[in-house]
Amino acid sequence: RAKAHGGSSYEFASAGMADRARDAIVLEADLRRALQREEFRLYYQPQVDLKTGEIVGTEALLRWQHPVKGMISPGAFLPLAEQNGQIVPINEWVMREACRQAMTWIEEGLPPIRIAVNLSPVQFRKQNMRALVTEILETSGLPPGRLDLELTETILMENSEVVTNDLLFLQKLGVGFSIDDFGTGYSSLGYIKRFPVARLKIDQGFIRNLETDPNDAAIIKAIIGLGKSLNLSITAEGVETEEQAAFLRKEGCDEVQGYYFGRPMPPESFAELFRPKARLVYSA
Ligand code: C2E
Ligand code: MG
Ligand code: MG
Ligand code: MG
Repeated sequence: RAKAHGGSSYEFASAGMADRARDAIVLEADLRRALQREEFRLYYQPQVDLKTGEIVGTEALLRWQHPVKGMISPGAFLPLAEQNGQIVPINEWVMREACRQAMTWIEEGLPPIRIAVNLSPVQFRKQNMRALVTEILETSGLPPGRLDLELTETILMENSEVVTNDLLFLQKLGVGFSIDDFGTGYSSLGYIKRFPVARLKIDQGFIRNLETDPNDAAIIKAIIGLGKSLNLSITAEGVETEEQAAFLRKEGCDEVQGYYFGRPMPPESFAELFRPKARLVYSA
């Protein structure tokens, strides 16, 4: 640090490098204070049943309302939070806030939808997940069947005994599990049988080019087929066009999530989706 202030050690480094190093240090310091300063927000993205067109669930997605930089996406700070362990308290806050919000919506009379929360591999290493989830469900009053925990293939590949026991315990309570970004990880299918998973979420990378890349279309069909034979529900992520939705409907995909059906939005906007439209009020 003394050297940095003296300036000599950075003399030959490009200004860009020094700027980036300083930015990273400032970001880390800001991140450490963000929870306590209540700068995190959850945005909610609808999950739609392709048969009925109804919203059947929502994924809670983390945002950081930075006092200077504005709204920051998780891709810009979660890797850092994973590295320095901050992800553990942050994700605990996410689960608590999502369950609280979901319970409020129940009390306000919204239809019974699932609420999906993303979990990090670090949590399973550092926390007693069954105790945490049980406590949060009790505190919020949310029926366990409304909670859908999104797991990555990484979570399932490592630490499998602890993970298996935690998941089986929570499944007995009624909690559901999805595999997020399915198809991008190790693609070892063996673990699907070992864990009490209810749903596969097809990674948006396969959806993006499905009209132009026959391989992507084939992979999507294969995952939907796998879901049917293993009795798993299939959600497609990143659906942006009517054409993509039509393809997925034709192939028997159960649910969709994507900009075509709704972007991640603040909780007030999400609740608005369920209010009767003004034009219905005046239509008589
Ligand atoms: P994910 O769980 O796969 O979430 C889906 C991501 O795709 C979200 O990005 C969402 O905004 C984006 N998305 C949804 N529909 C579309 C679409 O039609 N087109 C495109 N281009 N993108 C779409 P977001 O919110 O930036 O989150 C990125 C990732 O950060 C998430 O991917 C998830 O892995 C992670 N993440 C978000 N919130 C949390 C959290 O609370 N905890 C943890 N551990 N991870 C989180
Ligand atoms: Mg997710
Ligand atoms: Mg995903
Ligand atoms: Mg992702």
